[in-house]
Amino acid sequence: MQINELPDYLANKIAAGEVVERPASVVKELVENSVDANSSWIKIEIKEAGLQEIKVTDDGNGIPNDQCKKAFLRHATSKIKNENDLFHVRTLGFRGEALASIAAVSRLEIKTSTGAEAGTRMVLEGGRIKEEGRSDARQGTEITVQDIFFNTPARLKYLKTVHTELGHITDIINRMAFSHSDIRFELTHNDKRIFQTTGKGDLRQIAASVYGISVAKQMIPVHTRTLDYEIDGFIAKPEVNRASRNYITTIVNGRFIKSIILAKAITNGFHTFLPIGRQPVVVLNITMDPYLIDVNVHPTKLEVRFSKEKELFEAVEQMIKGALHQQTLIPAGQKKNLPKAKSEQPQFEFERKQSTKEKPTNESFQQEVNHGSIDDIGMVRESEHVGSSMTMENNEHNSNDLNEDIEIIQNEQEQVVNEVNRVPVMYPIGQHHGTYILAQNDEGLYIIDQHAAQERIKYEYYRDKIGEVEGHVQDLLVPLTFEFTQQEALFIEQYKEELQKVGLILDTFGQNAYIVRSHPYWFPKDEEEEIIRDMVDQLIQEKQVNLHKLREEAAILMSCKRSIKANHYLNIEDMQRLLDDLRKCEEPFTCPHGRPIIIQFTKYEMEKMFKRIM
Ligand code: ADP
Ligand code: MG
Repeated sequence: MQINELPDYLANKIAAGEVVERPASVVKELVENSVDANSSWIKIEIKEAGLQEIKVTDDGNGIPNDQCKKAFLRHATSKIKNENDLFHVRTLGFRGEALASIAAVSRLEIKTSTGAEAGTRMVLEGGRIKEEGRSDARQGTEITVQDIFFNTPARLKYLKTVHTELGHITDIINRMAFSHSDIRFELTHNDKRIFQTTGKGDLRQIAASVYGISVAKQMIPVHTRTLDYEIDGFIAKPEVNRASRNYITTIVNGRFIKSIILAKAITNGFHTFLPIGRQPVVVLNITMDPYLIDVNVHPTKLEVRFSKEKELFEAVEQMIKGALHQQTLIPAGQKKNLPKAKSEQPQFEFERKQSTKEKPTNESFQQEVNHGSIDDIGMVRESEHVGSSMTMENNEHNSNDLNEDIEIIQNEQEQVVNEVNRVPVMYPIGQHHGTYILAQNDEGLYIIDQHAAQERIKYEYYRDKIGEVEGHVQDLLVPLTFEFTQQEALFIEQYKEELQKVGLILDTFGQNAYIVRSHPYWFPKDEEEEIIRDMVDQLIQEKQVNLHKLREEAAILMSCKRSIKANHYLNIEDMQRLLDDLRKCEEPFTCPHGRPIIIQFTKYEMEKMFKRIM
């Protein structure tokens, strides 16, 4: 046996596996180096999602002629000299591995100059120097990486489609742009410019580049400082929300990071402002003494640890709460003269359904609706005026079909009741404050939140009904237009077919913008835009359109919007119907947002309270 010391190029090739996972890793390392070199402008030119070529040009410090060769040695860095420096690093890189690793798995050309004299030009192939000479004296560095993984073909196989890889690249550049707002970024793909920033330090402008102008317009600035932390950024108003947490961007000391603590503090700040399951759009820039943060745990990972976690958590939460509170101050002031409950929940007019009795289709629709526990709120009125998507769909059936449908639903529901029957039969006594139904039976007294109850009933109804007939598409009177981020647009391009299968046809409408002319009939009215955005969010997260999940979300949306509110008078008949429908629910105890629906005082508890028994 013979033990050999590996030649450098081979050792680097092996080490490259850790640093260079995909084209986006190359982009990340090169751009980080440009940032570390104090550049004010960084241009990233990509060909074929980086598989063919990645070129990064900057106007930074450049590398002195006598140092250039060294930069390609493993563990060669200008960023730390000794152990002490390790705990002070403010640069993005410091391990000195990137250039060596990238060069090991590609054909690389570097031109770099400090601006004082003619610079260096070097060509490397698989980590070995092929050419060496002079370059011009333009200050800055230009690195071109071609044929990545040409000598490690196994790696190439792991790469996904061009769309996926380009998506990773735009993601990296978006983050870099957010974390370095004072640097002007330019990104091109196959010579087409796909992203750019001004470098003027304006986070909102970057948000506009990344999320589109309409979202950026809805963003409000936030700022706070504590003894140890300075925090500023932008939060989108709650009406702009997303299904995924991907739109929460946190930057600490110029580094894009992921922190469960920070994300939690942010969502806490938005608590009660956002519907359950929805995530805010936030960009936060946090500056602190590097001593308080531990990023060295694993430099390629994005997670960090904070030493004064609690202080940071509270600062972020309070800052967001404060900003949102100020936003709602104006409408609250206007409503001052109104009774409180009214201002919280808009009054709703409860109409009996006599008005629709003459119309046979509507009547059968009504029956179904009643059966599925929908009352006439909104639905029927819509059918009379505009024709809601639901009603239109039902008009396509003849009433016989409908009656059959109703019977099936009825049977199914009765089966469920027989199986479970977790809520006993309750008899309404009356209503308290137009909000709670009081009911009784032999077991005791019940208090039922009427709004929560109806939300639950409708939620389950919609959840089961929505999307039952697939492929039915409804044309929109006014087409909707959407602006997406570069990355989102790439996913849309890639999954166009999938989206079409679920009835969503997105036509290109300018750069990263799309127009939607029709949509599946089950889309909740006035909520189309939200659902379409959800679909795209889901695509990005799950690489597929999960119809089930979408319906679930649509169901929550519709159930809440269309439920009877507090302060609404119900007669005994209405109450009885509501209670009976609630009994048929699968989960009759909480509303879709998790709040309780029924409170019970058992006979025993009552007797104890009145000391009839001891
Ligand atoms: P690290 O960034 O961890 O120091 P790298 O392998 O990425 O290691 O880079 C090695 C060295 O090359 C850096 O420390 C820096 O001195 C130099 N360098 C790399 N890219 C640039 C650039 N764009 N501008 C100036 N210097 C650079
Ligand atoms: Mg580096």
